[in-house]
Amino acid sequence: MRFTYPRSFLALLLIGFSIVAAPLLFALFSNALAFERLAELSEHAVHSAIKETQASRALLTSITAIERSGRQYAVAGETTFLEAYNANRASFQALVRQLNGMSLSDTQRAEVAAIEKHEASVHELIGRMGPVPELTRRLPREYAALGERAQVLVQLGDQAIDEGIEQLRTQAVKSRNSVFWLMIALIPTAVLLIAWFTFLIARPITQVSESIRGLGEGQFAKPIRIEGPGDMVRLGAQLDWLRERLVTLEAQKTRFLQHISHELKTPLTALREGSDLLSSGVVGNLNAEQREIARILQENSIELRKLIEGLLNYSAVHAQTSYLDAKIVQLRDVVRRAVSDRKLPIVAKGIRIELNCEHVTAYCDEEKIRIVLDNLLSNAVKYSPERGLISIKLYKDHGDAVFEVLDEGPGIPPHEREKIFEAFYRGTDMPVAAIKGSGLGLSIVKEYVQLHNGQIEVLEGPGAHFRIRIPRKKTDTEEEAA
Ligand code: ADP
Repeated sequence: MRFTYPRSFLALLLIGFSIVAAPLLFALFSNALAFERLAELSEHAVHSAIKETQASRALLTSITAIERSGRQYAVAGETTFLEAYNANRASFQALVRQLNGMSLSDTQRAEVAAIEKHEASVHELIGRMGPVPELTRRLPREYAALGERAQVLVQLGDQAIDEGIEQLRTQAVKSRNSVFWLMIALIPTAVLLIAWFTFLIARPITQVSESIRGLGEGQFAKPIRIEGPGDMVRLGAQLDWLRERLVTLEAQKTRFLQHISHELKTPLTALREGSDLLSSGVVGNLNAEQREIARILQENSIELRKLIEGLLNYSAVHAQTSYLDAKIVQLRDVVRRAVSDRKLPIVAKGIRIELNCEHVTAYCDEEKIRIVLDNLLSNAVKYSPERGLISIKLYKDHGDAVFEVLDEGPGIPPHEREKIFEAFYRGTDMPVAAIKGSGLGLSIVKEYVQLHNGQIEVLEGPGAHFRIRIPRKKTDTEEEAA
């Protein structure tokens, strides 16, 4: 399922929070509803149970009152007793009506009907017999039976209360269980929703931060696209515009460098040839001072030529940074070649070279790796003291091929360890003899190492200590097979 982002980041946040809160609100609402139902049920049950019990007990009392007045009438035969009897009956009948109007169980209802019927038969008996001794004898028996029935009705009421309480308890347990299962289902849902929205919110931010880092590291090849709410997508488009701008600037810079170094070459050649002619004495003999000037001219034009070559080299590197001519390469051979290429200055300075190279192959661009090693070695030779020792190591580490180059020169101060890889940066604290570089060597080294997805670092040491790692990739298996 693909999520369609809203137009703004704020809307995404609001939607996220609402969706995450929805199941929790639902749980809260359904809990409240369950408890409300329970409360209603218990209130209703208690209320009607009390009413029923009160009415049943009143019925019992009213039967006693009828009995008393009925028996008095039977014994004395006075109309006052008959009137009292009738009044008591009326209130008895009112109670019966009240009970019938309540929500009674079937047994209770049958009992009320039976009581009513029995009382009616007793009343009929009183009306038929009138105040005679026979009635005086029969009435206690009849009323005792009626009283017993009323007693049964009271008991039935108590029983109904117990049943009601039991029902409430069952209902409470049921509600508690349903709340429990609801929570069991909703909490993981809420957690999953939180995780999903965190991902949706974090993704565009991560993409923006990665794109900016990529731009900072000079990775301009991949277009920038941000997936997210409308405003973040627009931000991505602006970043991509910035990337294109940087690509253009980079190309302009390279072109400018190429032009300028090319243009410089012609007058420089003339300058060099002129100074050569002067020094060789072809155009006439020079005195000692003139010779000295000619020598300074010659030396500096050589120096200038080196700088220009460096510039050309640098722009060439930039022109082909995306290009890797990779194949399986015996790295030990590349190291040996780099050393033999630098034989002259090494011998001239009486430098000793210590090689510690394992048999390592890697899938890489041989020429670029050679240039990397050559640059490191030429720096090492340049900054080494006379008769110093340069040590070169090559070994495998996990999936990487690792080179280390160490010398006994002044080393690189910690605050310069990042900067030396910048183009045109030259160390501040160099012995006079060594300050001849263009400051481009290490920037080319870094460029090439990164092109191989490798790393270069400067380690602590008395002298300079560089370590380069490049992934051996593909070769891991191919080498074993070879
Ligand atoms: P340069 O042409 O100046 O040598 P690099 O890019 O090769 O340019 O090196 C940049 C700076 O790094 C140098 O100016 C120097 O300060 C420092 N550096 C490089 N290699 C060494 C080394 N082996 N020993 C001491 N300093 C070094």
